[in-house]
Amino acid sequence: MPDNPPIPTLDELHALKPLQQPTYDDAAEVDEVVARLRSLPPLVFAGECDNLRDKMASVAAGESFILQGGDCAETFDGVTAANIQGKLRTLLSMAVVLTYAAQVPIVKIGRMAGQYTKPRSAATETRGDVTLPAYRGDAVNGFPFTEQARRHDPQRLLGVYNASAATLNLVRAFVTGGFAHLRSVHHWNADFAKSSAASVQYQTLAGEIDRALAFMVSCGIDDDVFNTVDFFASHEALSLEYEHAMTRTDSRTHLPYNVSGHFLWVGERTRQLEGAHIELLRHVRNPLGVKLGPTTTADTALELADRLDPDHEPGRITFITRMGAHRVRDLLPDIVAKVTASGRQVAWVCDPMHGNTFEARNGFKTRAFSDVITELNGFFDVHEELGTWPGGVHVELTGDDVTECVGGSDDLVEADLVNRYETLCDPRLNRNQSLELAFLVAERLTT
Ligand code: PEP
Ligand code: MN
Repeated sequence: MPDNPPIPTLDELHALKPLQQPTYDDAAEVDEVVARLRSLPPLVFAGECDNLRDKMASVAAGESFILQGGDCAETFDGVTAANIQGKLRTLLSMAVVLTYAAQVPIVKIGRMAGQYTKPRSAATETRGDVTLPAYRGDAVNGFPFTEQARRHDPQRLLGVYNASAATLNLVRAFVTGGFAHLRSVHHWNADFAKSSAASVQYQTLAGEIDRALAFMVSCGIDDDVFNTVDFFASHEALSLEYEHAMTRTDSRTHLPYNVSGHFLWVGERTRQLEGAHIELLRHVRNPLGVKLGPTTTADTALELADRLDPDHEPGRITFITRMGAHRVRDLLPDIVAKVTASGRQVAWVCDPMHGNTFEARNGFKTRAFSDVITELNGFFDVHEELGTWPGGVHVELTGDDVTECVGGSDDLVEADLVNRYETLCDPRLNRNQSLELAFLVAERLTT
């Protein structure tokens, strides 16, 4: 990092007319909240972000694979031990399957401990003859369809800090305290293989993992190696007040980091080259993600890369592509080819969720498991053809048996959506669908 340009002020960022921001009615209250946030301790440490950037560099070099997942929108009510444990368990289960198949380290990143803001396509929501501000995530307003709940309330940003701190605290305890022991994780998967409709297909892999584990244990490989895992927190950096307040200068390196999460990404709707979000994030040393949707050109990707990563630092940027199942094969090759030709080492991650949302006949916003898999296969095929490394997957999932996405081995149909549709935003894969996805990705990584 040769030069160290000053971080823009919040006012300077607002002068760039950022999109998708709340409209607060009391500026003094916002200032107070931001000042309070600035005084609170970091949620993650700069050294951890550096460690993740090194891991991302190894992904960019084709030597590791990223598994990133969690809710579309976390909620304050969702900060319970059972909920956090369920998501972590699902992600760790998927990671074991992927590690075994890919035979490379899996970089595990939760869409967790900070994912409380949502960009919306419409600023308002109308029900009958009532129109209110759209729900923008618990960071901004409440989900209930009342004027009071939908008011943009700056105090909620302190709620984000507290909810993130509580979540990270439990996650850190789980991943070092024995919960993540490889043997337990494998037992959860074996349960899946027995109970899932796709069991026959998956029991072979589960059996192989069993034997590999038994072999390592009988060789006397230290149990401690299996006992802890690295796990990182990530979210979309959307709220400028929150992200700016959490941007701090590291006392060790004197460089700025966003200490609200290890990995931050900029969403498809706020990644304008001259926009406030890119402007803020280009100053911090965290590894960064940028979502690339179907309107992205190769030139846009290159310009974003130049802006965020002028030094061509491996691992600095991850492009999270979300083209849609039926467009990925047409749209992705040019982008990957030109970015690769520019000599950059970026990590390529597939988000097979956000290009594949549709409204079911009964009104539920859903996704078809088959579309998710089609996009993933397209992503793997494109990288195979170009000789580039398909660096990872980014999915919206939960540890619960929700019914939000149709399909999968349990064959959920549209009529099932009504049973357990619990997301406040986008539909998530349930536990079985998530594990099934991991097994399918595993197959692609083995062949
Ligand atoms: C998201 O990840 O929840 C999201 C809104 O994605 P995108 O910015 O790709 O639309
Ligand atoms: Mn989403």
